[in-house]
Parts: sequence; structure tokens; C-alpha cells
Amino acid sequence: MAINDVYVPFSDLHAQYLTIKTDIDEAIAEVIRTSAFIRGPFVERFESAFAELMNAQHCVSCANGTDSLYIAMHALGVKAGDEVIAPAHSWISTTETISQLGAKVVFCDTDPDTHTIDPTKISALITPRTVGIVPVHLFGQPADMDSIMALARPNGLWVLEDCAQAHLARYKGQLVGTFGDAASFSFYPGKNLGAMGDAGAVTTNDADLARRMAMFARHGGLTKGDHQIEGINSRLDGLQAAILSVKLRHLTHWTHARQQLAAVYQERLAGIAGVRLPVVAQGREPVWHLYVIRHERRDALAAHLKSRGIQTVVNYPVALPFLPCYKSLSHQPSDFPNAHHDQSRILSLPIFPEMTHEQIEYVASSIAAFGNGTLNTKEAHGDCMMPSGNF
Ligand SMILES: *Cc1c(COP(=O)(O)O)cnc(C)c1O
Repeated sequence: MAINDVYVPFSDLHAQYLTIKTDIDEAIAEVIRTSAFIRGPFVERFESAFAELMNAQHCVSCANGTDSLYIAMHALGVKAGDEVIAPAHSWISTTETISQLGAKVVFCDTDPDTHTIDPTKISALITPRTVGIVPVHLFGQPADMDSIMALARPNGLWVLEDCAQAHLARYKGQLVGTFGDAASFSFYPGKNLGAMGDAGAVTTNDADLARRMAMFARHGGLTKGDHQIEGINSRLDGLQAAILSVKLRHLTHWTHARQQLAAVYQERLAGIAGVRLPVVAQGREPVWHLYVIRHERRDALAAHLKSRGIQTVVNYPVALPFLPCYKSLSHQPSDFPNAHHDQSRILSLPIFPEMTHEQIEYVASSIAAFGNGTLNTKEAHGDCMMPSGNF
């Protein structure tokens, strides 16, 4: 139970809905009234609004963020025998889609500060079979795009930016997603721009790539009955598109709210013994999809916060190369020392645009209490989830 009867959820989608309820309800009613469930005006309107906000010429919407990676890499020509370089720390979608196209996943370790792919370790991984790189702007932290592009271009590699956690993040003033050949986005409900179900999109400035992606996502044909190739069925539906169009108008404001909350955490948690704060590299503007600290006694800290009614998450508990599905690659911790080091130390704290001042202060003071060992009697006597012997 929460000690002060404060409950801080990891995120609060219902609180967000309540702030825009009238517009969302009207948008949903309008889709139902016009039965524009698949394709149609709501999808087209969202695609152009999203392309405009992301500073891209084309947006191809699809069923979810995982499909957006799959569709983009299919259109980029990924096939059996190819090798694709991806970071060792990400959500499984980034790499499972590489394997599903028959290519080999080549993991690259992460940079210890930003958790994004370490460009200094990419060169050594490039072989004659390498076709592309998938940098991930993990947690909303921009990857080092200048260094990545400088490696990709002379080697003839394409770059697909996984922007699932990074809508509106900037690198040297430029929006992420505009550096590579294409950018994939997820609108999973909990993402910075979230639908009320599954949804995703790819953006690009390459008209021919956009046409091939749209074709593949729609059974291989852009007009009914005209199947140029065999494709898949991956569509953004009208209801989700209408919901996303309403939410898109608030994305800039919500992003600022996340940035302000992150600034509060950075200030309040600075100097607390044992807490390693997220590092913002020079010239990067993260959008804080996740606010991730590191702590040597991560699980004890998480249990302590839980006992105070604070929900935390580990994104992700096992780095990709060490998951059972990649066992056949026989990777060792020493292959990816930074990603491996992080997996047992990272902890994502609550952060969402509607988070109150009281909530964030409570989280910060609860972390400070753990660091200082200033526990009240109730906790000290074990009426919480703290393992004994930690103080
Ligand atoms: C969420 C996410 C995806 C996949 O998106 P879904 O919409 O859940 O399929 C891909 N990559 C990263 C980094 C993500 O966080």
C-alpha cells in the first residue's frame, strides 16, 4: 500500500483522454457515422498531417510499429543472406523483423551515456554482406546520426531510423527520422503519440520507396485487384487515424511537458548516492518516452518505490543478444559490455505529460529516502517489499 496514499502510475492514459475527451469522442463518432473504417479520408488526413509535422515528404501508415520496420526493410530490399546492423539494446521489434526478412541480425553495443548504438563500434561489424543500419532513438534519446550517416553513405548502406520512442526528438536541431532513408514509428497506446489500439507508420523523402512500401502493405497493389507483387495486409484503420489526428495537435505540448518533468528529475535526483542520471549528449533534444536511471541495487530500489505506491518498469530486463531467441548466436556479455552492464541496472521512472508536481516530487523524495537510508519505522520493520539487509 502507498504510505502517503499517493499512487504514481508509470503512465496514465486515462488522464490524457480526459483532457481531450470531447474531441476524441467526436472524432470516433464521425468515423462511425461515415463508415470510413479502412483507408479513406481519416487515414489520408493523418498521413499528411504526420508527414508535415515530421518534416517528411511521404508517410505510409500501417497496422503497428513492428510492421513499419518490416515494411520499410522489405521495400529497401532486405533478403536472405543480407546482414543488418542494429543496437544490442532495444525492443525486440527492431531485430525480429530483420530475421523475418531472412537476413542476419548483427548486434552492435550501445554507448554507455545515451543507450543508443555506439557508432565507434559499427565499422568493425561491416562486411560485404552488410546492407543497412537500424539505429534506435531509444527512450527518446537521439542516436548519434552524423557519425552513423558518415559510416553508412561511403559504404553504400541504407539507414532506417527506429523512431518508435522518439517522435519530435531532435539531433543538432534537426528532427530524428529525417537523417536516414526512412523512419519507422509506432503509435502503440503508451508511446509519445499513441492510438487507442495498434498503429504505425513509415516516413521518407524517397517517393519510389514510399510507393513500394504502400504497395507491399496493401497486398502488393495500390489499386484494387492490381497485385504487382505479393504483399501483406497492414493497415491503419479509420478510427485510429481519427484519434491520432486529434492527438497529433497536442504532441508538441505533451513533448514539452515531458521535457519539463525530465528537468525536474535531473535536478531533484542529482547528487543522490548510487543514482546515475540519464546523460543528454551535446546537441541532442530527447523527448523522454522513458526516463531511465541506473542503480547498482536496481531491484531493491524498484521494490522500495513499489512499497510507496510508485510504479516502475525495466525497459528491457534482458538485452537483445542474450534473449533465448538469439541463443543460437552464442553471444557473450563481453561482446556487448555496455548493453550487458545496463540490463541489470536500468530502471524507468514514471513520466507522462499529465504527471503532477506532487507526483514527481514524491517519486524524487522516495528515491532520495532510499539513497539516504532514511526509512520510516513501518518500512524498517519489513512491512514492504524491501529485501532485508540492504541498509
Ligand atoms: C514500440 C516499439 C516498436 C514496435 O512498435 P509496435 O507498435 O508495438 O509494434 C519498435 N521499436 C521500438 C524501439 C519500440 O519501442
